[in-house]
Amino acid sequence: MRNTWHLGKVFGIDIYIDASWIVIFMLVTWTLAGEYFPSQNADWSPLLNWSLGIIASLLFFASVLAHELSHSLVAIQQGEQVKNITLFIFGGVAQIAEEPDEPLKEFLIASVGPLTSIVIGVFSGIAWWLSGKISPPAASIFSYLCLINIALACFNLVPGFPLDGGRILRAIIWGYTKNVKIATKIASFCGKLVAFLLISLGIITMFRLKAISVNGIWFILIGWFLYNAANRSYRHLLLKDALREVKVEDLMITSLDTVPPTLSIQRLVDDYIMRHRDHGFLVVDEGMVQGIVCLADVKKLPKERWPTTPISEIMLSKELLEKVSPEENANVALGKLTAKNIHQIPVVQENRVRGILRRNDILNYIQLHAEVRVK
Ligand SMILES: [Zn+2]
Repeated sequence: MRNTWHLGKVFGIDIYIDASWIVIFMLVTWTLAGEYFPSQNADWSPLLNWSLGIIASLLFFASVLAHELSHSLVAIQQGEQVKNITLFIFGGVAQIAEEPDEPLKEFLIASVGPLTSIVIGVFSGIAWWLSGKISPPAASIFSYLCLINIALACFNLVPGFPLDGGRILRAIIWGYTKNVKIATKIASFCGKLVAFLLISLGIITMFRLKAISVNGIWFILIGWFLYNAANRSYRHLLLKDALREVKVEDLMITSLDTVPPTLSIQRLVDDYIMRHRDHGFLVVDEGMVQGIVCLADVKKLPKERWPTTPISEIMLSKELLEKVSPEENANVALGKLTAKNIHQIPVVQENRVRGILRRNDILNYIQLHAEVRVK
């Protein structure tokens, strides 16, 4: 992942912070120190306001993290794999490896997030009430946490996919109709509608104030983000649907050029890379896959060493190699290609090479599938 920092591990889940998060952290702290806390007590010094601002925004992000963690823990408990949690400009996101395959699972995973925010909000409210007489600065932090967590829960409950509320809506329609495609179509349409309303609200806010306001820009940005996310989720589903019946062996190429591990890099470049248009070759010894070698590996080695270095020294060896079997579903293969950001994957059966599957072959198939269906 680019531009992210690893924050630590909680319950075995890696927590990352995206660089864009810094922007929102500063914006929240600035709004709190400049507006919220001075409005609570005009006599507080700037130092106190800023200290409270930093503490409150850290606690706010801890609340966002708790919200995402609750999604992740329920997902794990439901048998899903959680890759990580990333905090970024629009809050947080828990990367769950696969979309839930049952409506009830999705319902549970989606609803626990807003529920967690409500619980934090209520407890902060109680703390606000209890600390009012003892420490007004502490009370004002709790008041903020109470309000922001309730607001977070409300926003997430808006029924537009992929917000939690949209996921809950999808799970309900899905459970009722037993059709995940229709459910996703309706929920992501609602997501786009919410996005459109947010963008309109942003534009109206800016016109009414006749100035570029932070809130106005914020509504537009969140709306835009939501629109893209809704669109992407639906397209992702269509893609998965198109590949549901397709096996790796239906799409793989079997007439492939392989190279022996003992071949020199110089020969690889002259006889294979320059002659064929392929950038990567499977390294095979007596029918057994040994690894994969591509142009990028060659480029790392100084040119004068090309004639004397065998391919086996620079190839990505079989232990590190992602592979698929011919009977596997094309969705699984596409998942591996995307997760590792690679262009081709060897198809291997009992350690013997059967072919190679390229990302382009899958994409071409999807395109054809879509065109045929339109007609
Ligand atoms: Zn959530």
